Amino acid sequence: MTMLSSPSVWKEFFQNYYENELNKIAGKISAGDGAEKSIQVDVLSHLSFFREGILAEELFNYPDAVIEDAKKGILLTDNIYDVRLEKCVPRFVNLPVARRVLIRDLRSQHISKFVSIEGIVRKVTEVRPKVVEALFVCGNCGKKVSVWQEDSRIKMPYECPACKSKRFIFLPEESVSVDSQRLKIQEYPEYLKGGEQPQSIDVYLEGDITGLVNPGDRVIINGIVRASPRGFGQKKLVHMDLYIEGNSIEVLQQEYEEFEITEEDKKRIIELSEDEEIYEKIIKSIAPSIYGYEDIKLAIALQLFGGVPKKLPDGTEIRGDIHVLLVGDPGVAKSQLLRYVHRIAPRSVYTTGKGTTTAGLTATAVRDEIDGRWTLEAGALVLADKGVALVDEIDKMRAEDRSALHEAMEQQTISVAKAGINAVLKARCALLGAANPKYGRFDRYSAIAEQINLSPTLLSRFDLIFVLTDDPDEKKDLELAKHILNTHKLGEKLEKMKNVSSEFTRQSVEMEIQRVVPLIDPELLRKYIAYAKKTVFPVLSEEAEKRIIEFYVGMRGKAKDNSPVPVTARQLEALIRLAEASARIRLSDKIEIEDVERVIGIVRKSLEQIALDPETGEIDIDYAFSGTSKTQRDRIIAIKKLIEELEKEYEKGVPEELIFEEAEKMGIEKVKTRELLIKMREKGEIYCPRPDHYRVVHNY
Ligand code: ADP
Ligand code: MG
Repeated sequence: MTMLSSPSVWKEFFQNYYENELNKIAGKISAGDGAEKSIQVDVLSHLSFFREGILAEELFNYPDAVIEDAKKGILLTDNIYDVRLEKCVPRFVNLPVARRVLIRDLRSQHISKFVSIEGIVRKVTEVRPKVVEALFVCGNCGKKVSVWQEDSRIKMPYECPACKSKRFIFLPEESVSVDSQRLKIQEYPEYLKGGEQPQSIDVYLEGDITGLVNPGDRVIINGIVRASPRGFGQKKLVHMDLYIEGNSIEVLQQEYEEFEITEEDKKRIIELSEDEEIYEKIIKSIAPSIYGYEDIKLAIALQLFGGVPKKLPDGTEIRGDIHVLLVGDPGVAKSQLLRYVHRIAPRSVYTTGKGTTTAGLTATAVRDEIDGRWTLEAGALVLADKGVALVDEIDKMRAEDRSALHEAMEQQTISVAKAGINAVLKARCALLGAANPKYGRFDRYSAIAEQINLSPTLLSRFDLIFVLTDDPDEKKDLELAKHILNTHKLGEKLEKMKNVSSEFTRQSVEMEIQRVVPLIDPELLRKYIAYAKKTVFPVLSEEAEKRIIEFYVGMRGKAKDNSPVPVTARQLEALIRLAEASARIRLSDKIEIEDVERVIGIVRKSLEQIALDPETGEIDIDYAFSGTSKTQRDRIIAIKKLIEELEKEYEKGVPEELIFEEAEKMGIEKVKTRELLIKMREKGEIYCPRPDHYRVVHNY
C-alpha cells in the first residue's frame, strides 16, 4: 500500500501552516535552549484541510509511521535562524469527534490506531526520567555500547562487539533519558447510569507533556492505543491490557458544556422558570417516590442550583456551593434521597464515608503497585469538582478524611503533602451528606454534636442540617404506609405487564404512574440546572439586603450582651448563598425579597431542628455544634469564677461539697453543678489535685 505521508509532504505541511511556530522554536534553540519542544498541530482546523485530509486519515490509521515521517519532515523545514529543529515533537490536538472513543468502548480494533479519549484524571505518578537509550561499558575491554530501550525492563547488550565478553556495567548518567509520567483516566461520573462502576485506562506520557495535569482535571488525551500482555517475562499471557501512549493533552476548562441545550430546551426552561409554582414543581420532581420531606427537597433544589462563587479584588475566594447534612434514624430514606440526587445532578459522585478506593473522600499519595513510584490519587470530593459530592454514612469516614474535609468544605481545595508530593487539588463541590446517630436513634433532647460522630467545627460548615426522625405518628404513618404500598403495587403491576400477559393496561395504571413520575423530566431538570448555573448571576436587591440584615441582627439580638451568640457570620453567608440559589431557580438576575423569605423559612426550620436549647426553647447555635448551651455556659462561667474565688483559701483544691453549697445560693441545683463539673473536667477547664477537690486550669 502506498501512503501520501512522507518527510517531504510533512515538510510542505509545516512550512505552509506553521512557519511562525517553527521560527519561534528555532529562536529558542539558537539561544541555547536544548529542552524538548512540542509543535502543536490542530487537526480539525489545519491538517484536515491539507491534501483533502488524506494525511489526517493516515495519521489516525498508521500513527507510528506517520508521526515518524512528521518528525523527519520537521527536520527538513527551513527557519530564519538556520538551525536544525532537533527534539521537536509534533503533537496533534483538536481531533474530529469521530475519533472520540469512550473508555469502555476501547477494543482490539483500536490497537495501534490514533484516538481521542475524554475523562477525568484519577491518578498521576511523579514525573521521573526514563532511559530510552542505555549506555553500557564492557567489563572486560572497556568499550562503550548503547542499546535502545523499548520495554519497562532495561535491555542489556547481547555481547561486546569488540571482545565478545558478556559482562557489562550500566552507565545511567551517560544514558539518554526523557521525562515520563503515567496517568489514570476515568470516565466522567455523570455519564454513568445508576450503580455502574466507572472504567479507567492508563496513559503513558513522555517529554514536555508530563507534569501538566492534576487529579480531578478533565482532559482529552490524544494518542495511540497500545496493548501489553499481562504478566512478566516467561509468564506473559495472551490476555492483554490496553493503554494509551499519549501524544497530546487538552485540559478542558468548560463546566457544563457537556450538555447540549437546544433552542427547544431553552424555551421549555424559560417557560418553567416563569411558572408561579416552579419551586413546588421542582420539589415534586425530586425523588417523587419518597413521601414528605418538602423542606429537605427544597434544600436539595437550592443546593443543586447553587450560590454564586466569588473572587474578591483582594484575592479572597468565597464559595457558592451549599453544603447540606441529613442526620437521622435508620430507615428514613436518607440513602434513597442521596441516590436520587445522584441521578439528577448534572455532575455528581456518590460514595460512602468508608470509601471504596484508597483515596477515600479526599486525596492521597500512594506507592504505585507497578513501578513503585509515588502516585497522587483523587478521591470523591476532587472527582466531584464543580458538581455535587454525595457522601452516605459520612460519620463513618476515616480520620485522614476528617481533617481534609475541613479544608475541602471551606477553601474548596485539598492539600496533599506526603513523600515529596506537594499538591493542592481543587474540590469545588457542594456536599450532601447523610449520617446516622451514634446511639442508634436520634434523641431530640440532646445536642446534635453529641449524637453524631462529627466534630463541631465540621458541623458548623454545613449551610443546612436536617434531622429526620422516625417518630410514630398515626396519621403520618398511615399516609406513608399508603404511599409506599401504592408505589410497590404500581411496580408489581408494571412488572406483570412487562413479563406476562396481564389484565392491566397502560391506560388503567396511567393515573398511578402520574403520581410518582417527576413533574419535570430528570433530563430537562439537569439541563435547567446546568443552564441556570452557567448563565444566571443574581445580585442582591436593596430590599432583599435589608431583610437579610434584619433577620440576622434579630437572631443575634436574642443573645443580649453576653458572649454566646445564636447565629454566627457563617449562617449569614449561608443565607446569602441560599438566596442566590433561590433567585437562580427563577433565572432572575436579582435577589428579591421573596427569595430571602423562602430561605429564612428553611434556615429557621433547620435551626429549630438542631439548635433549640431544650432548657430555654431558644435557638442557640453554640448548643447545636458544641453541645453546651448558653445557659450552661453562663453557669460554667459562674462556677469557674466561684472556684477561682475559693481557691485563694483552699490552695490544695476546693472541696466539692462547698462548691455545691455556694452554687445552690446562685440558684444552680446540685445535680446540675455535678454535671457541669464533669463536663468542665472533660474539657480541661478544671482539674482535681486530689479526689473531690477542684482547681481551675490557667492558660498563661
Ligand atoms: P436510611 O438510609 O435512612 O437508613 P434508606 O434510604 O435505606 O434509609 O430507606 C429504607 C427504605 O425505606 C427504603 O426502601 C425507602 O424507600 C423506604 N422509606 C423510608 N422512608 C420513606 C418515605 N418517606 N417515603 C418512601 N419510602 C420511604
Ligand atoms: Mg442509609
